[in-house]
Amino acid sequence: MSLPSSTSRRGFILSSGAALLASTIYYPTSAAWAAGADEPPGPPQISADEAIRRLAEGNRRFVDGKITHPGRTPADFQPLAQGQYPIAAIISCADSRVAPEILFDQGIGDLFIIRIAGNYVDGAGPAVKGSVEYSVAVLNVPLIAVLGHSQCGAVKSAIQHLHDHNALPGAINDLVKQLKPAVLESEGKPGDLLENAIEANVRRGVAKLNTLEPVVGPAVKSGRIKVVGGVYDLATGTVRMLA
Ligand SMILES: [Zn+2]
Repeated sequence: MSLPSSTSRRGFILSSGAALLASTIYYPTSAAWAAGADEPPGPPQISADEAIRRLAEGNRRFVDGKITHPGRTPADFQPLAQGQYPIAAIISCADSRVAPEILFDQGIGDLFIIRIAGNYVDGAGPAVKGSVEYSVAVLNVPLIAVLGHSQCGAVKSAIQHLHDHNALPGAINDLVKQLKPAVLESEGKPGDLLENAIEANVRRGVAKLNTLEPVVGPAVKSGRIKVVGGVYDLATGTVRMLA
C-alpha cells in the first residue's frame, strides 16, 4: 500500500506539522457541497490525500484537547438533509471508546462509518461490504480507512479461543472466528501477539478492500480512491497510520 508522503509510517500524529500548516486553509464541511444535489457528479470532491489531512488535523486537535466540534449547528446539518458528501468511509470497531467522529473531530455528514466488533472486512458479509461499496459508488468518498484499536476485546477473544470450538455463546463464536486468521499469521512473530494481531487484522481488511470486486477494487486501481489502515491508541488518543 502506498501512502502519501505526508502520512508516512510515522503516522497521523507525527505528520501533523504539515497538517497544522494546512489548517490555515480551512475547507468547508460537506454541508457546502450538499446543497441542492442528490448524487455526486464526477470524481470525489476532494482527494484522498486531502481527506487524510483533515483526519490528521482532527486527530491532532483531539489529542491536544482542542477539539472544535465542527459541523454540528443547524446551519451545518440542515443543508445535509438534501444529500451527503462524506470525506471518508471508516470501518471501525464497535468498542465504545472508538468513536470516529470524536477522535477525528469531524462533523455531521463528514464520515460514513461502519462499526463492527473487531472491524474486520474479510468474512464480514454483505452488510459491511455493501455499505463500503455504497460509500464509493453512490456517496463518492475518496478515502476508505480501516481503523483498529489497542486492547481490542474482539481480537483478544480470538487469541483466547483460537483453538476452541463452540467456546463462546450465540453468534459471538462466529464473529471471533473471522479474526482468527489475523491471530494465526501473528503467532510466533516478534513483539506482542495482541498488538501484532490487531495490526494484521487491519492490514487484512485493507488488502481485501484493495481487490474487492466489482466496486472498490477497480476504484482503487483507477486511482479514484485510496484505502488506508490505522490503529487507534486508547490511552493516547492517537491514530497511527500503517505503512
Ligand atoms: Zn475492538
